[in-house]
Amino acid sequence: MRIAIVGAGIAGLTAAGELAKAGHTVTVYEAAAQAGGLASGFRDERWEWPLERFYHHVFTTDTAIRELAREIGYDDKLFFRRRVTAQWWRDRGYAMTGARPAAPLPGTAGTLPLPVPDAVAGVWSLLRFPALPVTDRARLIAVLAYLKYGVRDWRPLERTTAALWTRRFAGEGLYRAFFLPLLEGKFGAYSDEVNMAWLWSRFKARSIRLGYFEGGFQGFVDALLVHVRGMSVRVELSTGITGLDPLPSGRWRVEPVSDRPDAPVAEDVDAVIVTGSPGLVSKLASDLPPGYLGQLKTLRSMGAVVLTIALKQSLTNGLYWVNLPKDQFPFLALVEHTNFVDPDRYGGDHLVYCGDYLDPSHEYFRLTKEELLVRFLPALKRINPAFEPSWVRATWLHREPYAQPIVPVDHSRAIPSLATPLPGLFWASMSQVYPWDRGTNFAVELGQRVATELLTCAGQASVPRMPGERPAEPVPGLAGRRAG
Ligand SMILES: Cc1cc2nc3c(=O)[nH]c(=O)nc-3n(C[C@H](O)[C@H](O)[C@H](O)COP(=O)(O)OP(=O)(O)OC[C@H]3O[C@@H](n4cnc5c(N)ncnc54)[C@H](O)[C@@H]3O)c2cc1C
Repeated sequence: MRIAIVGAGIAGLTAAGELAKAGHTVTVYEAAAQAGGLASGFRDERWEWPLERFYHHVFTTDTAIRELAREIGYDDKLFFRRRVTAQWWRDRGYAMTGARPAAPLPGTAGTLPLPVPDAVAGVWSLLRFPALPVTDRARLIAVLAYLKYGVRDWRPLERTTAALWTRRFAGEGLYRAFFLPLLEGKFGAYSDEVNMAWLWSRFKARSIRLGYFEGGFQGFVDALLVHVRGMSVRVELSTGITGLDPLPSGRWRVEPVSDRPDAPVAEDVDAVIVTGSPGLVSKLASDLPPGYLGQLKTLRSMGAVVLTIALKQSLTNGLYWVNLPKDQFPFLALVEHTNFVDPDRYGGDHLVYCGDYLDPSHEYFRLTKEELLVRFLPALKRINPAFEPSWVRATWLHREPYAQPIVPVDHSRAIPSLATPLPGLFWASMSQVYPWDRGTNFAVELGQRVATELLTCAGQASVPRMPGERPAEPVPGLAGRRAG
């Protein structure tokens, strides 16, 4: 079969590799000048490594991306470290994970971190969180342990909201001090609607130790790009797709648009996979039936606004990630990337992300970088009173309207199938990643799943399914089209 994929993000490139492995002819069209989508990076001239536009790390539990890294020979470039993530409370960031108990160093004023397992470090951090009474700290550890080790089936959890469940089982105090900031951090005004299965998945699937690639995620994506190109996949960068037209033959005409002098021409293919937002697939395939379009319209998501600041010196005292209270700060997360990766990789810059998840109609999507800086810089002085604007060397602003799907009660029933009702048209997006929180690991899984789904429709494979997902029907137009 001849297959077109819209989008060279991690899902699109993974699907391309899987389909090429099965012997098909694949072209990937990517509107941006580089591959990687939401995980792509940018590079200042003085940096050795590119930096993600949006802060990124993986977890030790992210087996799909680790396996893919191994397959493409990039696993030796993935390293894991224990780093402190903190919650802001009364003018200080308190470690919630990653802090190690320390012993006094004999004869000095310093301390030596004790070598303890990650779980011990996690419990230690929580036990010392002063915003909670001691009884609540113990209760929090019990609730988190239950969620991580005691829940066998997440499905009953999606029938209630995270707000209701945590209020009931953890209590109002814990809800306000611990769970609410977590939910508001991702979903803002919609935090009350998010279901408990989503919150469970965050504790279930995440490790304390965090992972990062040498050369950044862009380095990993570029290696994946070389790998799939080596399997004869054609990847057309700087080439957007403006329309997908069904042909009377049952095939699809793909209309690429590019400013490149060697711009590709329209291509007729047997099947198309669109990766990206629900809005993108409904715009590209105007013939989608009302039922499926209606499902797409019910999907909601948050956007992301991230201001990256290169500082001449470090801002926090060794903290990697600080969750900030929404009512006191103009953004939600402060991530000091160079407390994870050495500043030497970035010409000595100390790199700080100021990030927020917001409704795409929020004014932060319209304000200029300079206007946002006027609002954000005073917050850096609150975080470190010694901070002066003269510490700022350079700034960058990145915004993305489709950044975090909102997952309300019973979300599994609302997820549109990967195979659309139009024969030969498939859609794979973060909105179909569930109950796990979207991420690069799940983009790999999604790419594998949509490739298998396509082959199933063509009668060439059977596909493992997400709970609640409809099985693909063999498609008359596609079935019987063999590799090549
Ligand atoms: C703020 C933020 C922080 C994150 N942090 C993490 C993290 O710490 N760890 C982690 O694992 N994940 C993280 N993620 C999530 C992760 O980046 C995504 O889950 C993953 O990259 C999604 O990959 P994808 O291929 O499904 O989609 P995308 O990366 O969105 O790929 C879609 C591609 O389609 C292209 N495209 C769109 N329209 C067209 C068109 N008309 N023609 C051609 N191409 C088109 C886009 O340019 C894009 O490259 C984060 C995301 C955000 C926004």
